[in-house]
Amino acid sequence: MLIKVDGRDLNIRFSAAHFIPSHDKCSRLHGHDYTVSAEIEGKESNGFVVDYLIVEKYLREITEPMDHRLLIPKGGRDMLIGKEGEYTTVEYMGKRITLKTEDAFFLDADSSSSEDISSYLLNRLVKMLKPFENVRNVTLCVYEGPGRGACARQ
Ligand SMILES: [Zn+2]
Repeated sequence: MLIKVDGRDLNIRFSAAHFIPSHDKCSRLHGHDYTVSAEIEGKESNGFVVDYLIVEKYLREITEPMDHRLLIPKGGRDMLIGKEGEYTTVEYMGKRITLKTEDAFFLDADSSSSEDISSYLLNRLVKMLKPFENVRNVTLCVYEGPGRGACARQ
């Protein structure tokens, strides 16, 4: 059995700024209103795979810390991340961004592409769903706008 929690319909979203150093246009600082959806496959247990409300709550919990922040990939190639006092500076391709560290979200990934954001969030969601032993597969999709998204599966 497969259940779906559609973030576009349920308004599970976050707004964040990012940049992709290796990409021509996307190397410029810009932002997206991301939506996040999940599909969970498993055996029914007492009539449910996992209660929709629980999945929805988890998706909101894992995306909330990223909302209204600059996403900085911790493992980002082609960039230097420095911290001084309350500030973080990111340098890449001759550009320099300095911001209050509290306005940044350090993403456990190599980039802040939708692909890498979906992998990061999938790992978080899978850990939260560990107690549900009936769950077999989890897919998490991150849309950076209408019609454009990446899905990670585990
Ligand atoms: Zn972008």
